[in-house]
Amino acid sequence: MNSVPSVTLNDGDTVPQLGYGVYKIKPEDAVAAVSRALETGYRHIDTAQMYGNEREVGEAVRASGLDRHEIFVTSKLNNGFHEPEAARRAFEGTLTKLGLGYVDLFLVHWPLPTRYGGDFVSTWRTLTEFYHEGHARSVGVSNFQIAHLERLAAETDLVPAVNQIEVHPYFNNDALRAYGQAHGIVTEAWSPLARGEVLDDPVVTEIAERTGKTAAQVVLRWHLQRGDVVFPKSVTPSRIAENFALFDFALEPADVARLGGLERGEDGRTGPNPDTFDHIPD
Ligand code: NAD
Repeated sequence: MNSVPSVTLNDGDTVPQLGYGVYKIKPEDAVAAVSRALETGYRHIDTAQMYGNEREVGEAVRASGLDRHEIFVTSKLNNGFHEPEAARRAFEGTLTKLGLGYVDLFLVHWPLPTRYGGDFVSTWRTLTEFYHEGHARSVGVSNFQIAHLERLAAETDLVPAVNQIEVHPYFNNDALRAYGQAHGIVTEAWSPLARGEVLDDPVVTEIAERTGKTAAQVVLRWHLQRGDVVFPKSVTPSRIAENFALFDFALEPADVARLGGLERGEDGRTGPNPDTFDHIPD
C-alpha cells in the first residue's frame, strides 16, 4: 500500500508528495539506488539532464515491473539548451534516455536571467509545446523567482505546474512559496535536509528525541505539513527506508513553527542564488 498523499497540479494531474531525488548519484550506482527506492515504495523520481543518470533511472523503472502509470518521473532541461531548437533536441534526448514513452514532469532547471539575453520566456514557451504535444504530461520551472514567474504570467498562456526551489528550515523561502500558492503553482522543495546540514541543529535533535523519530524524519515531516513536495536523496538503503516512513506521526504546530524559526535568510541557502547563477555545464 502506498500511503503517500497526492498533490493535484493546476493541469489536473497528480504528483506523489514524497519522492526520491537522484542528484549526485553516479550512473553506475543509480540503477541499484532507484530500484531500492521503488522496492521501498517510492513512486516519484526526480532526475535532470544535468545529473547524467536519466538512462539509469529509466532502466530501473522499466525493470521494476510496475505499471508505467504508477510512477511519476521528473526531468529538467540543462542550462546549455535554452534556445528553442536546442531545448527540443535536448527534450527528445531525455525521452530516449528514459525510454518510458513520456515524462511526467519536465522543468526549466534554472532561469539564467543573465544568459540568453534574459529570455527564459521563449524557453518556457517551448516547454509548453512539449506539454501540448503530450510527451510531457506536465511542465514547470525550477529556481524561478517571483519576478521571473510574473514575466511568464504576463507573456505566456500556461502557468507552470510546479516551481522547484530550495526550501528547508534554514531557508524557508516563504515569499516565493506564497506566490506559488496564490497562483496555482505547487512548490517542490529541493535540498529538503539542507544536504544534511540541518540534521545536527539542536532544535531538530530535541524534537527528534521527544517524538522518537530521526532528525531527517522530523525535517521531512515539517515539509509535508507545510504542503510542499519533497524528494530527499540518499543511496544508503536504511536511509532510503527511513526517509519514506513519514506517515505514522505528525508534528505539533508549535514544533512546525520552531523549525521554521531556524530561518537564516539569504545566509541559509546551500545552493546558488537564481538571480545570479549562470553556470552552463560542459
Ligand atoms: P538533501 O537535502 O536531500 O540531502 C541529501 C543528503 O542528506 C545526502 O547526501 C545524505 O548525506 C543526507 N541524508 C539523506 N537522508 C538522510 C538521513 N535519513 N539521515 C542522515 N542523513 C541523510 O539534498 P539534495 O540531494 O541536494 O536534494 C534532494 C533532491 O532535490 C536532489 O536529489 C534533486 O533531485 C533535487 N535538487 C534539485 C535542485 C534544482 O536546482 N532543481 C537542486 C538540488 C537538488
